[in-house]
Amino acid sequence: MLGDINDQEGPDQQLIQNKHIEAELVGRESEFKRQARELERDIARQEEIKTNRQESMSVAERTWNQFGQERWRVLDSGGQPAELSTTEEEAKTLYQKATREFIEANFKISDLQQSQHTISLEQETLDRTLSIQRGAGYSAYMTLYRAHRWRVAAGKLSFVVPLFVLASWLVARRRKSIYHPVLIALLVSSFLRVGLVMEEHFPSEFFKYVGIIASVIIVLSFLVHALRSAATPKEDVLLRRRREAYQKNCCPECAYSVPHEEGKTMACAACGVDLFTVCDTCDGIRHELLPNCRHCGAQSERWRGVPAVAP
Ligand SMILES: [Zn+2]
Ligand SMILES: [Zn+2]
Repeated sequence: MLGDINDQEGPDQQLIQNKHIEAELVGRESEFKRQARELERDIARQEEIKTNRQESMSVAERTWNQFGQERWRVLDSGGQPAELSTTEEEAKTLYQKATREFIEANFKISDLQQSQHTISLEQETLDRTLSIQRGAGYSAYMTLYRAHRWRVAAGKLSFVVPLFVLASWLVARRRKSIYHPVLIALLVSSFLRVGLVMEEHFPSEFFKYVGIIASVIIVLSFLVHALRSAATPKEDVLLRRRREAYQKNCCPECAYSVPHEEGKTMACAACGVDLFTVCDTCDGIRHELLPNCRHCGAQSERWRGVPAVAP
């Protein structure tokens, strides 16, 4: 049952957030993200083109230089330089083309970076607005969520606390019942459950004080119980105490030693309580503070009460 109470559905975070955040802004945010991704891709492509063209340029440059050196050698030896050959023309065109494309890519990159900058500025402004709205949505959700958790806690406690109270009542009332151990088990488990529910739902500060109060109550009730049973000992305790005292030849009330004289009535020399009296049934001498006469076995209810002090 506690599990079922716990499983109650809470507030819908998405729904509450949506109420606080403008859908149009969220749309713009994802549009910006898409654009930023596109720009990054384009810049990477242009960088590739740059590297590629740079390689073409250096290849063309090397070829061109070789031809140039050849030409210088011809000039140095007094010859006339020939017209540019087709290969030389090609190297020249290639070099020019690669240079042009390299510069174009550079310009493109700088343009793309400019738009990247503009977008990131706009994105920052949008992010600020959105984070304010998201914060408002989140705190609205948390308020509802906390209220929900309190309701769940109240629901659980309203189930488990009455059970605990009922168990305590039964344990106190049915002391002699053969089901007493079962009732004790119910008491302990319901007490444990109350503790667990509190620990789960209440702030630790609050739980600490509840714990302290509960321990004080438990200790106090134990003390009260101990004091009561000391003041009015139970029958079996009383009987055991008196039996032992008679066996040791002591007064059960004050522990003063009793002389070993059989066949005579006797009172305690120290506290004056009757120890041996005449049996009402057989006129023999019986233990005044034990239930039965040792001669005829007659039962007397007198031993239960406050022992009479001999006149
Ligand atoms: Zn005595
Ligand atoms: Zn008797």
